[in-house]
Amino acid sequence: MRHDTKLAILGGAPIRSRPWPSWPRFDEGTERSLLGVLRSGRWAVSGAYAGETCWERKFAGRFAEFHGVPYCTPTTSGTGSLTLALLALGVGPGDEVLVPGLTWVACASVVLAVGAVPILVDVEPDTLAMSVSAARAALGPKTRAIMLVHPFCTLADVDAFVALAAETGIPIIEDCSQAHGAELRGRKVGTFGAVGCFSMQQSKVLTSGEGGAVVTRDPAIYDRVEQLRADGRVFSDRPRLGQLELLEVGAVQGRNMCLSEFQAAVLCDRLAVLSEENAHRAARARTLETLLGQVDGVSTLHRSSEVTAPVYYNFVIRFDLAEFQGCSIDTLARALGAELDTRVFPVYRPMNVHPLYRPLDTPRGTMPDTEWLRRDPSRFSLPAAETARATCLTLTHPVFLDDDASMDEIARAVLKVKACASDLLTLPQGSTRDAF
Ligand SMILES: *Cc1c(COP(=O)(O)O)cnc(C)c1O
Repeated sequence: MRHDTKLAILGGAPIRSRPWPSWPRFDEGTERSLLGVLRSGRWAVSGAYAGETCWERKFAGRFAEFHGVPYCTPTTSGTGSLTLALLALGVGPGDEVLVPGLTWVACASVVLAVGAVPILVDVEPDTLAMSVSAARAALGPKTRAIMLVHPFCTLADVDAFVALAAETGIPIIEDCSQAHGAELRGRKVGTFGAVGCFSMQQSKVLTSGEGGAVVTRDPAIYDRVEQLRADGRVFSDRPRLGQLELLEVGAVQGRNMCLSEFQAAVLCDRLAVLSEENAHRAARARTLETLLGQVDGVSTLHRSSEVTAPVYYNFVIRFDLAEFQGCSIDTLARALGAELDTRVFPVYRPMNVHPLYRPLDTPRGTMPDTEWLRRDPSRFSLPAAETARATCLTLTHPVFLDDDASMDEIARAVLKVKACASDLLTLPQGSTRDAF
């Protein structure tokens, strides 16, 4: 394969000059639904019943059905979903929750926000998901939940964690914010633990700008989540025209985490194309995996053959930096980004050094040292997360809505950067902004 000899980051011609597919996507159906909400006068579940099932209930029904579970509660965000899951499971002050050491900071900050202590657990090097052996070692008498995130483009070891939960009685909260629609042996993720949580924020594969959802099979959990997210109110069984549909009859201390009708309408519309978009991305990603499989010095994440429907949120490429003249991962990210004219980023910083995770900067009240210092991120050791941050790059999912020729360009960009890696050593090797 022939390469231009000058890297785009050093002023050469980039490999990619066509635009990438845009994200988020919508069509005329989305526009019609949104206009319908606008004109209906019912913009939120807390509005009056207008004679039809509101969008929020429609989305709840469709998302539950999509997962093959009886219950779903839409929420404001992934953060909201995780918060509601923790509260519904009764997690609070004094408790500990296992959280992966390599994920978005919200996974840990929600635990702090309910008064509990995040226990940061290292990841498996070949999936970047929480390591079951590290989780086992981190269990203690105060552990009340395991937050299992399906990260990037692969799944956590669901079977091992389900076995651990069965053995210990500690419930799993599955965070599927990066894996909407992924399946293991034909069963959707989010249905293996006690509760499945989703974010529908702008960057996710199913989005309404902001948004979220909680799914469960457990009627008691569902009942609590429903009340918790609407200040304790619950839907009337027999709504009356022009009357409020949410009744003040709940029995919990709640908060407002309700999805708006605009967001719910967008989600109903986009859910209808999710499986098709997931399949499209997966086909492109398989092409790229095959192409990268022929390049020495790079590899992709491990996925069990039992994953019957993979979901590619961020496609991860692992680098053997020695094959790239010892360049830093950040410099490789910038060089590849310039060749491809798209965002190429390292994975998250490990949570114990993440600049946005600052538990000791939160109000302490009268908490004694022994309790307070359990929150100190620096007491956790996350060597696999550190290695991942130093050696892995991600491509975002809209890239995979494109064609196979684009996958070829990505592989060519990797080869070009590899062939010219020594030229990169003249550039600063410092770190790039994390941006997920
Ligand atoms: C995006 C994300 C969240 C947070 O979702 P928000 O909607 O931004 O609150 C939580 N967990 C994971 C794994 C995510 O990717």
